Amino acid sequence: MKKLHASGITAIVAAAVAFFALTYAHQPNSVKEDSSRGREVPIAASIMPSSIQASTPSVPANLNLEKSQESETIPEATAPVSEKDSGNPANTANEAAVSRGLIYLDPGHQRKGDSRQEPISPNSSATKARVTGGTTGVSTGKPEYVLNLEVALLLKEALIKRGFEVLMTREDHEVNLSNVERAEMANAAHARLAVRIHADGNDSTKAKGYSVLYPDKSVSVTRSIQADSLLAAESILGALKAGTNASSRGLQPRKDLTGFNWSTVPVVLVEMGFMTNPSEDEDMSDPDYQLQLAESIAVGIELYMVQKED
Ligand SMILES: [Zn+2]
Repeated sequence: MKKLHASGITAIVAAAVAFFALTYAHQPNSVKEDSSRGREVPIAASIMPSSIQASTPSVPANLNLEKSQESETIPEATAPVSEKDSGNPANTANEAAVSRGLIYLDPGHQRKGDSRQEPISPNSSATKARVTGGTTGVSTGKPEYVLNLEVALLLKEALIKRGFEVLMTREDHEVNLSNVERAEMANAAHARLAVRIHADGNDSTKAKGYSVLYPDKSVSVTRSIQADSLLAAESILGALKAGTNASSRGLQPRKDLTGFNWSTVPVVLVEMGFMTNPSEDEDMSDPDYQLQLAESIAVGIELYMVQKED
């Protein structure tokens, strides 16, 4: 027992020393990078002292007692440790490479709206335009359909990085896809979740904040997807609260959205913010903020999917 314990500690010490040596050897390069990028050195520095501290308290006594055996046990003990260290991340990567489910993204609108009518629900005679043009940024002058696709493409990347399969209703502005057709694309693919990406507009330039819309529970045609859609909306809203500094307008149940009423898979719509608010409009075109939005929505989707995996 004592020998095993000692050789284990020896391995830890050897690993710590090797790590320290490697870290130290890389310092000059890291320091140079530090001035421009600044991230890697603080992370390495924060890991290094704790790993050394963790192994030091019990080391000196054992090392002095069995010094002669250390040189024999180091090569044997070091090999399994380093295999373990490199094996764990590899296993994690393999698991992540298996698809965790299909997410369908619908970047709202398109270059040209289509005012021809379509029923807002399979069991309703009420109609709405097939697809509208969306709003426009008061400060950037950017059309909503452009912003929606910009963030949706970042979201696609963020989801693929997390191991999800992603399909999109459009990756181009030159399409003519009605809201019914967009819903049916996700239905036909049996998506685990459909996420519609939009930005808001208001008569007041002061209106601001993101919101997450989901099918109202009183709508009979969406009854089977209502609970999951709400769960997804809650997960995404929570992640947006945690991942951005923007203000939240909360969850909003909707009865009147064609894209919800025709959906047979859980569906939510993220209103990222108001393009009619000058500063929020500017923020939503800031590449850093777009990444924050995309990453937050991806985290929310992942939270939802993890709950559904159980
Ligand atoms: Zn919209």
